[in-house]
Amino acid sequence: MSAAATALPGSGRIARGVRPDTRKALAADAPVEALPAPPTVTLPLVQHTGAPCVALVKSRDTVEADAKVADTDAFVSAPIHTPVAGTVQRAGVVTLPNGRHLAAIPVKTAEGAPGPEAVYADVLGGDWPLDDADGRDPEDVLRAIREAGLVGQGGAAFPTHVKLKPNPEKPVDTLLVNGCECEPYLTADYRLAVEAPAAVLAGARLAARACGARAIFVAVEDHLHGARQALRGAAGPTDITVAEVQTRYPMGGEKQTVRAVLGRTIPTGGLPLDVGVVVINVATAAAIARAVQRGKPLTHRIVTVTGGGIRTPKNLLVAIGTPYRALLDACGGLTEEAARVVAGGPMMGFAIGDLDAPVTKGTSGVVALTRADVRHAAETACVRCGRCVDVCPLNLVPSRIALAARHKDWDLARRYHMAACMECGCCAYVCPASLPLVQLMRMGKAQMPRETGG
Ligand code: SF4
Ligand code: SF4
Repeated sequence: MSAAATALPGSGRIARGVRPDTRKALAADAPVEALPAPPTVTLPLVQHTGAPCVALVKSRDTVEADAKVADTDAFVSAPIHTPVAGTVQRAGVVTLPNGRHLAAIPVKTAEGAPGPEAVYADVLGGDWPLDDADGRDPEDVLRAIREAGLVGQGGAAFPTHVKLKPNPEKPVDTLLVNGCECEPYLTADYRLAVEAPAAVLAGARLAARACGARAIFVAVEDHLHGARQALRGAAGPTDITVAEVQTRYPMGGEKQTVRAVLGRTIPTGGLPLDVGVVVINVATAAAIARAVQRGKPLTHRIVTVTGGGIRTPKNLLVAIGTPYRALLDACGGLTEEAARVVAGGPMMGFAIGDLDAPVTKGTSGVVALTRADVRHAAETACVRCGRCVDVCPLNLVPSRIALAARHKDWDLARRYHMAACMECGCCAYVCPASLPLVQLMRMGKAQMPRETGG
């Protein structure tokens, strides 16, 4: 059955949300460039949702590239590997853009590290057979994924082996591979799909084998046609369906993509699993192929470095643990207009306070915003216009939740489902009163369990 000829169960459209200028043209046509290994990589012991890892190495140990340097017995966690051969330095503490202070292992890179071409060929190049998944034991696939330290590379960094492990109470029929990059500016997933579509599809097949899904859909944005063409070309006459989704923020959110592609509605507070679906990101899929077919851990990732404040926007393939500063330098540095550098994207990302902080498994982009981009109007009182309600993709009432968070009224926050907020920022984007709605949601969600014990 041809992928292109299959009708979608969903409409392909995104309900609610907003339509900011995508600015993806800045970097969409920039082929992925591998960055040479930095003098030192710094590897935080938590790069995932779940239990922290414990160091397996100590200062002055020598390590080979791909060696596991931290792990834990906890199920919801993911081991950490060094992308470079070198010498372990004294452990330190790093502060990530999201404000977390984390113990980290620095590894000083040994001489003779592979050059950019070799890194690109190792991570993205070569053949990725699409037809070997059926012969594999799902348990073996899960084990390889776990040992490779794979986490979701779309942002949440949830351990992939946990997400894919079958749950007898919630059987899965469909795997959705998400190539829609919500955030404006970011094109890392797009370039991956264009340059290594077979890796994405091979990983999709293996992921489906692991979780028991029979149908595979790959979702891409409808305004960047190169990804669709490359994926359909690589899929050939298979049962993998490549679907285009309307470009409307936050089209890459799990709930939004599942609805748009599959026509299934995930209940408030629920997961894709509740409607028989597992969602993984395209970069995660490619990393699954590399882990299972080649036995390679997650040590590198593509990061888009872009924005009006960067001289030469690029998509870089970087060693995890590389400082943000090295990424900016590789793109010619900041322009005089640069006012703020954000990890992630402008809608959900975090301002980078320390450019020596390292790229982690979940880093998808670095955006240098200009003074014009970040100009803010003064906050005023809510005018009860209702615009935040109109755009919230989860049908929440942001003005009420923000009020509850501000007054620490957790009963009210619960009644209005504050915990379900995905912090997409649509409400703040349209608010004429410039209320800090997302900050209030984040603060409320962080404080509510502590203050209520719930
Ligand atoms: S309330 Fe949360 S989910 Fe709704 S628009 Fe605001 S940030 Fe997004
Ligand atoms: S958009 Fe802003 S001003 Fe309008 S109702 Fe929501 S919080 Fe109030």
